[in-house]
Amino acid sequence: MSVVIGIDLGTTNSAIAVVEDGIPFVLANEAGERIMPSALYTHSEADFKIGSPAKRAGSLNPKNLITSTKRLIGQTSTTIGTDQNLSNLTVEGTTLFHQTEHGKFRPEEVSAEILKELKRTVEFRLGTPAEEAVITVPAYFNHNQREQTLKAAELAGFKVTRLLNEPTAAALSYGLNREKGKQTIIVYDLGGGTFDLSVLELNDGVFQVLSTAGDTQLGGDDIDQLLVDWIIEQSQLNTQTLDDLQKQRLSEAAQQAKCELSEETEVSITIPFFNAPEAENIDITLSRNEFETLITTLLKKTESLCLRALSDAELEVSDIDSVILVGGSTRIPAVRSLCEKIFKQAPNLSENPDESIAIGAAIQAGILSGAFKKVLLLDVTPLSLGIETFGGLMNVIIPRNTTIPCKAGEMFTNSITNQKTMAVRVLQGERELAKDNWQLGEFELEFQPQPKGQARIGIQFSIDENGVLEVLGRDTSDESDTLFQIEDIAVNVADSDVEQMIEDSVEHAFEDMHARRLTEAKLKSKELSSALETVFQHYGNLMTQEEETELPALLSELNQAIENDDLPALKALNKTIDQKTLGIASRITEQL
Ligand code: AMP
Repeated sequence: MSVVIGIDLGTTNSAIAVVEDGIPFVLANEAGERIMPSALYTHSEADFKIGSPAKRAGSLNPKNLITSTKRLIGQTSTTIGTDQNLSNLTVEGTTLFHQTEHGKFRPEEVSAEILKELKRTVEFRLGTPAEEAVITVPAYFNHNQREQTLKAAELAGFKVTRLLNEPTAAALSYGLNREKGKQTIIVYDLGGGTFDLSVLELNDGVFQVLSTAGDTQLGGDDIDQLLVDWIIEQSQLNTQTLDDLQKQRLSEAAQQAKCELSEETEVSITIPFFNAPEAENIDITLSRNEFETLITTLLKKTESLCLRALSDAELEVSDIDSVILVGGSTRIPAVRSLCEKIFKQAPNLSENPDESIAIGAAIQAGILSGAFKKVLLLDVTPLSLGIETFGGLMNVIIPRNTTIPCKAGEMFTNSITNQKTMAVRVLQGERELAKDNWQLGEFELEFQPQPKGQARIGIQFSIDENGVLEVLGRDTSDESDTLFQIEDIAVNVADSDVEQMIEDSVEHAFEDMHARRLTEAKLKSKELSSALETVFQHYGNLMTQEEETELPALLSELNQAIENDDLPALKALNKTIDQKTLGIASRITEQL
């Protein structure tokens, strides 16, 4: 018999949990470890070590060690940004690979090997095959990152019953053991590679995500890097002459010092036989206070994301019943006191920060298999989805923070007589103008030729429980459908940083709103202008004397305002022309 399992496929560490007799628990691997480093070491093209053995081998020969592959999955060289912490990265075209002495490896292949190792743990511990799994992903993973995670699972021989957002998983593991009743909680998840924050409402076993925020490039790895830079500076090392092994030793020493500082107020950082020209041995002391100063800016970033998620959920700090800390980096005392300062309450530390996501994933697996019938899970879209419409505007079809799975649609029409096709550009983002959002794909929708404004084209978006988007275009005149699969289109997102997108939308809110209003007013003005031309050309005989003098003057003012992008004038003229043409419009209708 196969068991349904939950997997936390983390940037730094991964864990696997199962539910037996209604109790979820994390499985330890053959070596007795409950948390496995997400690391792979290549011995040859097809012979790998995974987990702690990989890290140990990598300490001696870092060239063949691959870590943090989750930072790469579903990314291209154009979307990855300037990430310092990627091991052995190489780029071909825009495709990213990990390079070792034994070849190039795609991130999804590396993730698949990690998943296979977790699969072996289940088989070793329970003696049953592991075929189905719930796998967690950061709430901010975009479509492509989710798709590639699914691909990794498929390569590892898993059928994924659900991709679950990590903070939601943590809330599941927290919520199941608590007394019933409505509670609003925050999940603050600072792991090795990513930061995720979610505001959730728990109500009698129903989970609803009210808002999410996060940063896919912020975590313990970045703290390690700050510490490495600090050690380099203190020991006056020349970064140009450091070899891979020395860099690896620095990074290990930094991580060890960081973890010790969670318990101690001062640590010694000792790297014997370092053998750099500047330092034979490294031996320096770091106090917790100094460490906290080093990471202030990084922690401040999480603070502003917390405040934004609260305001997105339209909540005050006083509305929050509990703050859950998840992810290894929340063991840092400064993180805990920051949370206490932001949310004005001591964070809840009842969950094991390393295990709660895997436990939550197992609970979700249990829900799907019927083991926990009463718990329902509602998740949300992290960014708005829509299409480009007239004038280059973004027309939102599914707003940000909509509960998924969801379906929504809208009717559109043709802007040109006898138009036979319409280019549907599928967009994701928070900006008013299409060009400022990310294009997920584009497809051409064919429809029956019709006079301008007569075609009735339905566009429907549906997002399944894994956050995967399907777009349906329908010509209502003959009920013909075009189904558009995003997977078939290369995702060509200029900037993968969702946080940046939201920040930009806030920063440019005013000019975006102005641009939208101007575009909308101009579209209307252009329509009025062409309608007036038609009246002068064909229905001059139906105009009153007053209209004959007033309307041409208004038309020339209107054309001038269009040319000058003069929004107040456009709005005023549109309104006046609407009123002044009521008479001639009804006379024309009577004559027809
Ligand atoms: P996760 O992605 O949740 O497994 O978190 C891994 C991150 O937590 C890594 O960057 C670890 O170095 C960090 N971490 C683990 N334990 C501690 C600790 N005691 N103090 C500070 N950071 C820690």
